[in-house]
Amino acid sequence: MNNVLPSKKKILSQADPGVEILVVDDEQAMRESLALLLNGAGFASRAAADGDEAIALCRKTEYPVMLLDLQMPGVSGHQVLAELHQMEMATKVVVVSGETSFEAVRDSLQQGAYDFVRKPYLAEELLTTVRNALASYQLEKEHRQVETALRESEELHRYIVNNSPDFVYVLDHRGNFTFVNDTAEDLLGYSRAELLGMHYSELVYEEDLPLAHYVFNERRTGARSSRNVELRLRLKVEDSESRAFETHLLPIELSSVGMYNVGHNVKDGDFVGTYGCARDMTEHKRSEELINFQAYHDQLTALPNRALFEDRLGLAIAHARRYEQSLAVMFIDLDRFKLINDTLGHSLGDRVLQVVAGRIQDCLRAEDTLSRFGGDEFTLLLPQLDSERDAAIVAEKTLKRISDPYLIDGHEMFLSASIGIALYPGSGETREALLRAADVAMYHVKGEGKNGFSFYQKSMTAGWGEHLSLERDLRRAIEVGQFEVFFQPKVNSRDQQIVGMEALIRWRHPSRGLIYPNQFIPLAEESKLIVPIGNWVFWATCAEIKRWREQGLPEVRVAINISAVQIEQPDFVQRILDTLTEFGIDGSQIEVEVTEHGIMKNREAAALKLGELSQHGISIALDDFGTGYSSLSYLQQFPVNTLKIDKSFVQKIEAEESEACIVEAIISMGRGMRLHMIAEGVETEAQLNYLKKLGCSEVQGHLFSAAQSASQTVELLRGGVMTQVPACTVEEFSFRRFH
Ligand code: C2E
Ligand code: MG
Ligand code: MG
Repeated sequence: MNNVLPSKKKILSQADPGVEILVVDDEQAMRESLALLLNGAGFASRAAADGDEAIALCRKTEYPVMLLDLQMPGVSGHQVLAELHQMEMATKVVVVSGETSFEAVRDSLQQGAYDFVRKPYLAEELLTTVRNALASYQLEKEHRQVETALRESEELHRYIVNNSPDFVYVLDHRGNFTFVNDTAEDLLGYSRAELLGMHYSELVYEEDLPLAHYVFNERRTGARSSRNVELRLRLKVEDSESRAFETHLLPIELSSVGMYNVGHNVKDGDFVGTYGCARDMTEHKRSEELINFQAYHDQLTALPNRALFEDRLGLAIAHARRYEQSLAVMFIDLDRFKLINDTLGHSLGDRVLQVVAGRIQDCLRAEDTLSRFGGDEFTLLLPQLDSERDAAIVAEKTLKRISDPYLIDGHEMFLSASIGIALYPGSGETREALLRAADVAMYHVKGEGKNGFSFYQKSMTAGWGEHLSLERDLRRAIEVGQFEVFFQPKVNSRDQQIVGMEALIRWRHPSRGLIYPNQFIPLAEESKLIVPIGNWVFWATCAEIKRWREQGLPEVRVAINISAVQIEQPDFVQRILDTLTEFGIDGSQIEVEVTEHGIMKNREAAALKLGELSQHGISIALDDFGTGYSSLSYLQQFPVNTLKIDKSFVQKIEAEESEACIVEAIISMGRGMRLHMIAEGVETEAQLNYLKKLGCSEVQGHLFSAAQSASQTVELLRGGVMTQVPACTVEEFSFRRFH
């Protein structure tokens, strides 16, 4: 502060020629002699002949010093003094008067006069008085300026502090608020009056008190003081019922510094309190939470993602281990979801996933965790499971909800899912083991024809723990030639003549024996290994046809199954034609069996390619008809020759009236479109008779023969006519139905 105050010495020695002294006297001679005296001493002067004139001049300018006569006609010197007082003038008035009474001196001094000089005055005395008055005036003026500057600067700082978005406060040495800025009221909901005197601990959320004691009691200063410590303050909430608990708390970031008194009266270094500044972190926290949420949740469904799921699973396992409880992990995979994406587009696929996620969630308890693991895969954690049965109930409920019809953006669709369930501790005791087991069980369900659930069993992993190793085995199977083509006859329903053969792949595994396509085709399609496998099947089938011809066997049409992934290949058509040329086989001897899924994907491209095949005499059969989209309108776009009624309908012919109706409807529809009809999976005579009655000309099924190896097929072809065999004597049949 000292450096803002000018030194006294400087003021006294200052001879300012600009300073004008006002001389007020009714006697002209007096005015002139005083002016002469002042001018002689280097002061400028101004004269007023009476009180009125003096007051008028003072209104215009503030004179530093005035020499004032008391007794004047009209407005007296006393009145001038009173008026100056009224005007709050800082002018120093030296009364120069002939009055010598004590009262006159006292009154004028009381009225604010600076000094009193008696007439007749001594020149030196008067000049000294004038100089002192002037110094006093200047000193006061400087003082006022400093005061104003100080006040303004204090106002500025107060303004800054009050308008700071931060809560700024001062605590006394006991921890009570002695200053809070305006922001405190807005932020905390307390009035300033309530806050002042309050102990900081009343404001802090109790969980954060230990940390708060440390920061609010900050005694350190400078760089060692507390900076950016995160705490929660309690807000004043009027209606606590209606607000969520979190909204009672204000997350802040607090910085504080110890304050020490450096005044003269108190011993240096006395701790007087703490100054602090708390920043509202609500927004920051919110964005932090959002970022956190995004890191641990799937954006599409807002479900926990894989990382969060694995984390929760880890916790649930630890809990289950400690309390000797059980838990279940489920792998839920939508069946043929890829088809929806491929045919209806990804944005609709996304909508479907959202709806599915919501539906599964509906089947769960609050403590269960459903997560989107990726793509169309969901995982589910059921902690604290009472019994295996509970997991089965959830799985059943989930499957049922998923299978309810969907109407999304005007598209009606049906979905199913395959669920694999692993139980802790039976199926595994670690996160990895449980997830793997659930995955294996899920793939087992897919292999069994999808749409169902299955608990993990050790036998499922006997060899292929995960489908990764299955994939590895599949690659190897291609390299070393472990695949074989089997053939199943297609029979004329009237005379039971063999009219065709369907090529069906088998995998002769070195240690596992014969493996059926349902167990590896889905994975082969997923990994695109179906392309080399399918090419091989086509090639091996043609090689077999050539051999039959060389042996003079009757020429029958041979059907080969083709998957969607194969059709997608740019050389799909050319490769088939090349293979036919290689073996000298006419297109008319070949039929390709495609599923509705296979052609719905890239509908136009598929129609073109199949059209090309058709032009080369190859016929097109729609396999598993009735299980997919089954819409008449799209059928017309494809050069389809044959509808193959799916075995699931055929096999229910005796049992359920409605299924028989479906078969009837399919057959009459197919006939209406002049399509060739064949029923697959015919196992009983009753089924055969019913189909015959409806006019289905061709049948295929265990009633006549399961798929046979190439050498057995030669025998069948040699015979030419099939006899009906009781289904249960066929080894493959019993395997397929009961395994
Ligand atoms: P799919 O083309 O519908 O073949 C009919 C399946 O039903 C065959 O199973 C066949 O053995 C079985 N089956 C035949 N008659 C009966 C019966 O009376 N009762 C019962 N329960 N089943 C019967 P498989 O050989 O296991 O083939 C299953 C599926 O694998 C085939 O269904 C086909 O979609 C696919 N697949 C087979 N071979 C190939 C292939 O070379 N390439 C492609 N892409 N898929 C193939
Ligand atoms: Mg087929
Ligand atoms: Mg079929």
